[in-house]
Amino acid sequence: MREVLLTLKELQYVDNELQTLEQKKGDLPNRVNALKSEMESLQQQLDEKISKNREESSLRSRQENELELLRQQLKKYQKQLYQVKTNKEYDAITLEIEETESEIERLEFNNLELEESIEKRDQEVQELEVSLNALKTELEQSKTSLEKVMARTRDQEKVLREKKESTQTKLTKPILSTYERIRNGRGGSAIAFLINGACSACSSRVPPQRGVEIRMMNKLFLCETCGRILIYDPEKE
Ligand SMILES: [Zn+2]
Repeated sequence: MREVLLTLKELQYVDNELQTLEQKKGDLPNRVNALKSEMESLQQQLDEKISKNREESSLRSRQENELELLRQQLKKYQKQLYQVKTNKEYDAITLEIEETESEIERLEFNNLELEESIEKRDQEVQELEVSLNALKTELEQSKTSLEKVMARTRDQEKVLREKKESTQTKLTKPILSTYERIRNGRGGSAIAFLINGACSACSSRVPPQRGVEIRMMNKLFLCETCGRILIYDPEKE
């Protein structure tokens, strides 16, 4: 068990070093990811607006064609009006003219509304493009900074990862998973030392009899207060 406890201590040391390296990257990895997802969402909005504008433009030109036909039709009716012979014919053509005119009015109004809506959306598209470009620049800068930091720490990180792997192979699965569980629950630290009869992590007193047992390093003991694995290291005392 002594070997296991010393290996755990070694593993904690390696994990601490890795954590320090990770901290050197600071907020950059998160920043890069946040920028990427923000850009994706803006791009989506942009695509939607562009496709909506395409849709409305094509509807508008269809209506424009329809209007052209209606206007020709109207002229035809107006000519016919001069050639009518009976009142009944006159009334029928007048009704056609009225209906055509009101249809023209309706379509003209629709097209005016479409035009406004397309114009407004064009403005939004331009604004989105400006925002997207700004984000793109920011993302490039964050990526460059992150790559610089990673280039500096890459070799160190590789050595530590290899060390971690070789240390892990010396431990059994249950011990390793206990260690990882405590480490995840305790902000990265799973190991505490017995120093002057107390836990070095949470300072709570360890009963003297338990202290004696911990010093013997024959068994794995957890701090009753913080749950970390308690190890005795004469150098620490
Ligand atoms: Zn403790």
